[in-house]
Amino acid sequence: MTATSHPRLDVFKFGGTSLGSAERIAQAAQLVQRQAAIGQVVVVVSAMAGVTEDLIRAAAAASRHETELWQRLGERMHEKHLRTCRELLSGEELALAESAVATARATFTDFCSGFSLVNEVTPRSLDSLSSLGEVLAATILAATLREAGLSAEAVDATQVIITDDHFGNAAPLLEPSRQRIADGLGPRLRDGITPVVTGFRAATDEGLCTTLGRGGSDYSATILGALLPADEIWIWTDVDGILTADPRLVASAHVLPEVSYREAIELSFFGAKVIHSKSIELPMRTGIPVWIKNSFRPEQRGTRIANTAAGRPGVRAVAHTAEAHLFTVSGADGFPFTRLAAAVFNALEAERVTTLIVTQSSAENVICFAVASREAGRVQRRLEKEHSLAGSPLLAIEVTPKVGIVVAVGEAMKGTPGIAARLFGALGRRGINVRAISQGSSELSVSAAVQASDLPAAVGAIHEEFAL
Ligand code: ASP
Ligand code: MG
Repeated sequence: MTATSHPRLDVFKFGGTSLGSAERIAQAAQLVQRQAAIGQVVVVVSAMAGVTEDLIRAAAAASRHETELWQRLGERMHEKHLRTCRELLSGEELALAESAVATARATFTDFCSGFSLVNEVTPRSLDSLSSLGEVLAATILAATLREAGLSAEAVDATQVIITDDHFGNAAPLLEPSRQRIADGLGPRLRDGITPVVTGFRAATDEGLCTTLGRGGSDYSATILGALLPADEIWIWTDVDGILTADPRLVASAHVLPEVSYREAIELSFFGAKVIHSKSIELPMRTGIPVWIKNSFRPEQRGTRIANTAAGRPGVRAVAHTAEAHLFTVSGADGFPFTRLAAAVFNALEAERVTTLIVTQSSAENVICFAVASREAGRVQRRLEKEHSLAGSPLLAIEVTPKVGIVVAVGEAMKGTPGIAARLFGALGRRGINVRAISQGSSELSVSAAVQASDLPAAVGAIHEEFAL
């Protein structure tokens, strides 16, 4: 790859707080301009902070005939974007942006009136409504860039990212998307235009709007980055990078300059909210580095996620999930353990629930797992139904609420003996009772379930033990 045959191309993704006000959008525009001076940039945007939440609330309110509430939320969305346009734009750009804001308002009203009429919100129509914030953010940022003299265009991702029809949580279809991206973005880039693409939104092959799940604009960025392909993907957010632990629990937590893809996946899965965990897989497969950067402090280095096992061996960071429920399911006599396990996992699969931790004892015919508390009710009902069936392999279901999961993560834990022993020693010395333990089969992580009230002490103990 030489500089002459291949101009540099980067994806810059801005999250909601990085676009949260006119001032923040102006800052994002500056970061894009700076990069556009040295190479090509594809920009991906989230909605302005809080907008997606309001849109989803409005839809629910409309379906319950809470007319005053949904209309107030619509007014708030309208106001916020109008004010932002007026602070950033003037003349023809302002007129254009204002008309986009008016169109979004009308779309909002049409959808909410419809939900109110039929007393329900379908996932399919919710996708069109909940991603309106991204449409507006792309419009406003593109206009701001043009006012600053850059050639920029808002692009609706429904034109370039193709997904299956799992509305609300769609999965990208890579080959069709690759073609659309090449056709949709390639000519613009060659003409010196900076595309500003709506995150979160995508479309089925037939053009029906889908979304990639909450927080999915990171995923939009890495899909585009991997399929273009880009040299690097920069996720602009409101923290300095991936930290060794949650700074609210550990005062000495600090930014990791480099983490491997697998470490980033593990950490984001277990509650480090810096990047959407699904979004790292594609860059990992294609070897494209992902930077986590703070748009509020762009001079900070940030964290580079790449194919590296950088740093010292052993534990590199501690993640945690504060709100989990632990299930202990024992099997009825006369059934092999595999029947019990199959029944339990079928129930989880039917509810599309992911486990945070799983342990088992075939000898005792017991399986133990934790799920996020918000999903626990559904899992419990499903298991109880299974239990009530004649010939069920389930004997008893025990549910423990208020459980926290603490996870020590490090690529180089593998081959470093004694890590689990040190970890449990550190917890034991502080009198923290461990309810369940599990080691990732890739030896990338060790997790422990503790009482939620012990979680801060557990995170602190591990951070200290490994001198992170
Ligand atoms: N705006 C969407 C959400 O809040 C997508 C994103 O922010 O990544 O979920
Ligand atoms: Mg958002």
